[in-house]
Amino acid sequence: MASLKLEKINKIYDKNVHAVKDFSMEIKDKEFIVFVGPSGCGKSTILRMIAGLEEITSGKLFIGSNMVNDVEPKDRDIAMVFQNYALYPHMNVYENMAFGLKLRKTPKEEIHKRVMDASKILGITELLERKPRAMSGGQRQRVALGRAIVRDPKVFLLDEPLSNLDAKLRTQMRTEIIRLHQKLKTTFVYVTHDQVEAMTMGTRIVVLKDGLVQQIDTPMNLYNYPANKFVAGFIGTPPMNFFETQIKGDQIELPGFGKFATKTLNISKDKLNKDMKVVVGIRPENIELAKNRSIKNKFFIRIVESLGSETIVYLSLNNKDISIDKEDLMIAKFSDTLNLIVGDEIDLAFNLDSVHIFDAETGVSVLKR
Ligand code: ADP
Repeated sequence: MASLKLEKINKIYDKNVHAVKDFSMEIKDKEFIVFVGPSGCGKSTILRMIAGLEEITSGKLFIGSNMVNDVEPKDRDIAMVFQNYALYPHMNVYENMAFGLKLRKTPKEEIHKRVMDASKILGITELLERKPRAMSGGQRQRVALGRAIVRDPKVFLLDEPLSNLDAKLRTQMRTEIIRLHQKLKTTFVYVTHDQVEAMTMGTRIVVLKDGLVQQIDTPMNLYNYPANKFVAGFIGTPPMNFFETQIKGDQIELPGFGKFATKTLNISKDKLNKDMKVVVGIRPENIELAKNRSIKNKFFIRIVESLGSETIVYLSLNNKDISIDKEDLMIAKFSDTLNLIVGDEIDLAFNLDSVHIFDAETGVSVLKR
């Protein structure tokens, strides 16, 4: 069991690719931390620096109270699980799990105990004699996890471990990894590009973009209080709707919905300038069918996706431009099965307390937290 501390960590590849910029955070013992962000944002690089597989260009990395920048990977007491399971094809499951311990000259009885314990935790005791090629992707991934568990590491590092699995198995393995974390009571650091995976697994999530931290927070705080427009658009499906507009005096005009007073919003006064350009954000699930509401407007239904328990509707303010891109339409999500017809008009409204406002120039949220 261990905590981690990263202090102003930078990674520069080949003297010019600045992959990680001034990354600092403390990871507490037993946390489940998820690094998430689009491809190339630097998440694997951070994980590989923690593992010792990648040199740290500048900054300090602590495991517990020891600075480990120059400690060999094998001496860091860390186990890593990769996307490609990297099992030895000529060894059976038992041998695959035992191999690392054998290299470390662990006594045979101890190896046996650890392999049996780990395979019980993972429910693979029936597979111990099998070779990797005779197993499904999910089973192989369990063996890869088993190989990490037997080492009894202080920290588990997992790099996109589920991305080779199909959607159903991915959901199942997600639950298994959460359970594993609860059982092992160890620190987990998990990398994924999938925000749903991040939201369902992490006790805290680190959102990265272009090597820079955007926000480090709990899943609920990321959803409720995104620090900037990038986080707001990245977390949540379908993504948040954005409307560019301007504050005029003490009012904001929102195309389609009309004007409303800035004082009705939870805006932080020191972040607000008169006449500043802003981006208003509304999540699809915060848009409602309007009955007797003040801020509402008519929208044209352009696309309807009925998912059974919910309906996702793409809308536009007018019905003139039929070639408008799907990305440019407003999205609403209703948690009912609605009989909506493309081309029809509907009245929509939203609650002011669910509105997000970002500085159009910096993208930073101007709301109070
Ligand atoms: P992610 O895991 O978020 O997809 P990576 O950490 O793999 O991102 O990469 C971050 C950036 O560093 C990318 O621009 C990538 O091209 C670059 N990069 C990664 N590994 C190397 C390498 N070995 N040499 C040069 N550039 C690299």
